[in-house]
Amino acid sequence: MLTDSYGRIATDLRVSLTDRCNLRCSYCMPPEGLDWLPKPEVLTGDEVARLVRIGVEALGIREVRFTGGEPLLRRDLVAIIAAAAALSPRPEISLTTNGIGLDRRAAALRDAGLDRINVSLDTLRPEVFRKLTHRDRLDDVLSGLAAAAAAGLTPVKVNAVLMRDLNEDEAPALLRYCLDHGYELRFIEQMPLDAQHGWKRAEMITAEEIFGALAREFALSDDSERERGAAPAETFLVNGGPARVGVIASVTRPFCGACDRVRLTADGQIRNCLFARSERDLRSLLRSGATDEEVAARWRAAVAAKLPGHGINDPSFLQPDRPMSAIGG
Ligand code: SF4
Repeated sequence: MLTDSYGRIATDLRVSLTDRCNLRCSYCMPPEGLDWLPKPEVLTGDEVARLVRIGVEALGIREVRFTGGEPLLRRDLVAIIAAAAALSPRPEISLTTNGIGLDRRAAALRDAGLDRINVSLDTLRPEVFRKLTHRDRLDDVLSGLAAAAAAGLTPVKVNAVLMRDLNEDEAPALLRYCLDHGYELRFIEQMPLDAQHGWKRAEMITAEEIFGALAREFALSDDSERERGAAPAETFLVNGGPARVGVIASVTRPFCGACDRVRLTADGQIRNCLFARSERDLRSLLRSGATDEEVAARWRAAVAAKLPGHGINDPSFLQPDRPMSAIGG
């Protein structure tokens, strides 16, 4: 098992398949994009499949979420998911995506073994979408969401980040849209993971503000039926249920004490936390002919050194060197 010195066990593996993205969301990267990883440094599909297999068979990983960058940019995504789905015990397999191109691929991903999907959608206004992402692709995202639901990747979850003076007034409209379409919405507090290092705590829309905005139109009540466990989202019943809304208050209500996550970057580095300041290199081990047990041992050591929390609220907090697109959200 992957245990740390605070008694937590990592069972949820987040795998970034690429640092590239076809959007330029301002909370993630600058409009001109970033210096992407050179292709030889990115794990091949076979290398990803091997590491996922080691995680599942030798280290107790029970859930695998593929992410990025934008994972739909990987042409071999279906094969990577199929390889994970063939493992025993069979892990839960999910995908976090911006939804562009999902309309063409949702059914194939489901057939390969994808169980669940999270699609990022921060606004329903085309002009705000353009301003936030520097691309005119809102209709593609909405079609992707519809295709995911039609393919049975349910409940389709929608991730939204609210930003001051941009889309901060859209909380009720986003929830209305998701309720109408049967999607489960979760708001995420913006975190200091942007490549530009422009995040300011005072400008962040807090969970309290989100609750206040939603309360003007909806009645939110405790969701006692759903146990939170290690889930980042605190969920609430909307207007008595069964519809739900979630809030991921990573900054103002951290949940690191129950964290069960470990991350693999697109270039084969293990990160024991989204905000880790160091990584362990599995790619070089793979490429030097190491055995599965040698890879597993380095992976265990990486998780053992996990800190108790992200420390965003400490004066000494330092943002990770790598931005979210390189770490995997
Ligand atoms: S910040 Fe790190 S420790 Fe906290 S929940 Fe996220 S990954 Fe886990």
